[in-house]
Amino acid sequence: MDKLQKLFNIVDDSVEEIVKLEQELVRIPSVNTGVMPTGNESEVCDFISDLLKKEGIKSKLLHRDPGRDNLIVDYPNVISSECKLLLMSHTDVVPVENESKWKYDPFGGEISSGRIYGRGSNDCKSLLTSQLMSIILMNREDVKLDKGLRLISGADEEHGGRWGFGWLLEKYPELLKSEYAVNEGGGIPVEIGEKIYYLLGTGEKGRLEVEITIKGESAHASLPWLGVNSSYILSQALELIKNYQPKIDTSLPFFQYMENFGIEEKISSKNINQVIKILEKKLPRISHLSKALSRMTITPTIINGGIKSNSVPEKIKLICDIRTLPFQDEKYVIEELNKLFHKIEEIDYEIDYMSVPNSSSFDTQLKDSISRAHAKSIGLDEIKLIPSTSNGFTDSRFTRANGTITYGFSGAHPDDDPGLANVHGTDESIGISSLVSGTKTMLALAYDLCNSE
Ligand SMILES: [Zn+2]
Repeated sequence: MDKLQKLFNIVDDSVEEIVKLEQELVRIPSVNTGVMPTGNESEVCDFISDLLKKEGIKSKLLHRDPGRDNLIVDYPNVISSECKLLLMSHTDVVPVENESKWKYDPFGGEISSGRIYGRGSNDCKSLLTSQLMSIILMNREDVKLDKGLRLISGADEEHGGRWGFGWLLEKYPELLKSEYAVNEGGGIPVEIGEKIYYLLGTGEKGRLEVEITIKGESAHASLPWLGVNSSYILSQALELIKNYQPKIDTSLPFFQYMENFGIEEKISSKNINQVIKILEKKLPRISHLSKALSRMTITPTIINGGIKSNSVPEKIKLICDIRTLPFQDEKYVIEELNKLFHKIEEIDYEIDYMSVPNSSSFDTQLKDSISRAHAKSIGLDEIKLIPSTSNGFTDSRFTRANGTITYGFSGAHPDDDPGLANVHGTDESIGISSLVSGTKTMLALAYDLCNSE
């Protein structure tokens, strides 16, 4: 039996321990509201540090503010310390919106029908569990690696990373330096007939927040014609946004792989909308992704206005979320907004660029290694990876900016239906099968990439 298979058997014997670690992490509420003081990531980091200490593995904690630690772990048993592979995740979780809707205790880590429930159980404590367990188990078995392996779990991912990877990039860029990195933001299985495909997260759309100010003129509500009611101008603006026709573009690498989803014709901006319709029933996830990756979106999300119930509102603020394709910069967005609103005089806007689009190339040693590692992990001869751009964003944008080839891939099991995950939603959960396959995949990846032969 080869050494890797032996390690896989040890993972199979450690399922109880993997599940327990995940439950313990979920039970620490590290909720990030975005308003300081928040996050409580240090409690997660301290817990993991103590655990690793018992295993003889040292960890480093770094913070911008107390309570908001970032966890850094270097695999101890290495020949060269130069980092070949960085395992990334984050310790913070989004708030629980309406607890009464939850069937399970959001911080209970309860198990039901092969799944672990709780806020963060999927995003991102499951990946953290898999990555930690791969390191712990390899170290217990005294596996020596030729090249450096590092784990970083950051704070504040859910609110922009200014206490996490963003801050680390500013203060300790050398810590983020690695040839390759694996993070959340990819690895969704897509089953088509007998075949299983995985979406590999190779890039992310950009995100902007635009604050639109609509100006009218106040008057007493009993004589409304004396004023200019800004809510009517708002309704015009909303109508324009609703009918906005973004430029359709199919240049992302994702669209070169559509034959895998049973689409024979070559994809172009002319036929993509039709293809999206065809996929709607058969492969809804791919249909939505195709739509998101072929256009910029503008979505109104917050409206604030009016000060008194008997006054004509003078000012209304409308906030929109904008997601851009890789080649659409701030200038492009401004031009689009100017065109869209050119007939409305009483409108002004300010743009806050939260995250620029980013990507890593698809044809790399890391891609081949992920494909081999994960196929082995789930007992297949091979799996097919499809490069996918995420419509959300993760900490990968910081490591990509630092020159590290970074992919989103969690190692999910094909039996674990992604539709049950409910990330950021009610009764978020992870299949235990994915925790196990994820641990094997991370382990096989490190074993493959960090050994020279
Ligand atoms: Zn996340």
